[in-house]
Formats: sequence, C-alpha cells, structure tokens
Amino acid sequence: MGKLAEKLEQARKISWEWFGKRITFYLPAMFSYDGISGKYPAVSVTGNRCSLQCEHCKGKLLQSMIAAVTPDELLQPCLKVSERGNLGVLVSGGYDSEGRLPWESFIPAIGAVKKRTKLYISTIRYQRTCCSVSRDFSTKKW
Ligand code: SF4
Repeated sequence: MGKLAEKLEQARKISWEWFGKRITFYLPAMFSYDGISGKYPAVSVTGNRCSLQCEHCKGKLLQSMIAAVTPDELLQPCLKVSERGNLGVLVSGGYDSEGRLPWESFIPAIGAVKKRTKLYISTIRYQRTCCSVSRDFSTKKW
C-alpha cells in the first residue's frame, strides 16, 4: 500500500470513528433535484459579475442566485424568501481580481433583514482560491 493509500485509509478510519458511516447531503436552494430544492437560497451582491472566471464555472453559478447589486435591493427579495418559509440566505456573489466581495456596504441592509425576519444570514468574507469556500465560510448572527 502506497503512502497516499495509507493516509486515505487512516483518514477513513478517523472519520468513521468520529462521525460514523452515515453521510448527510444538503441541497442548496439554487439547485433542484428530483423536484426538490433546498431552503437556503443565495443572493449575489454582484449580479452575474465575477472577475475570477474559474475554468469550471466562468460565473455560471451566479446565474442561479437572486441578484441584489445594491444594498437597497437586498431587503425585498429577503422578505419574500422569508415569507416562503426558507431558513436563511447566503449573501455571496462574484469576486474581484483579489478574491474579494463588496459586501461590507451591505451590512446595514443585512441588519435590516435580520430585524424584519428570522432568516439566518451567511456570508463569505473573501476567497483565496475558488475551492476554499468551506474554509472562509462563516455564519453570522447580526
Ligand atoms: S469565483 Fe465562484 S462564481 Fe466566480 S467563477 Fe469561480 S466558482 Fe464561479
């Protein structure tokens, strides 16, 4: 058995010890599977714009998100999302060339959403690489 195979075997054993063999998959609201979609839609604060243009996406993911490119545009869609029984909203979007989102100007609008709904609001602060979402993903209570 090679070193990688040994490491994978070790990782599997640790994972099964800590978490068991059951895997839970979550379905984001931007996608549907078998007629079912999740209860946690995403809002793009950049609309369809993304400077990173990763090879596997080219900004296509943004097309499945609710566009809210100004703070004023954030509240109304979030109120509708709440009325439809969703649990929360991911505030995300496309990145600039430094891997940043301009969402800081949205903080007061996010606060207004929190005051008017019981939605969880999740944000992604910035992204070092396209695949580091889980590392930089944080759920905040405002
Ligand atoms: S940063 Fe995200 S939205 Fe932009 S191209 Fe990459 S995967 Fe798509």
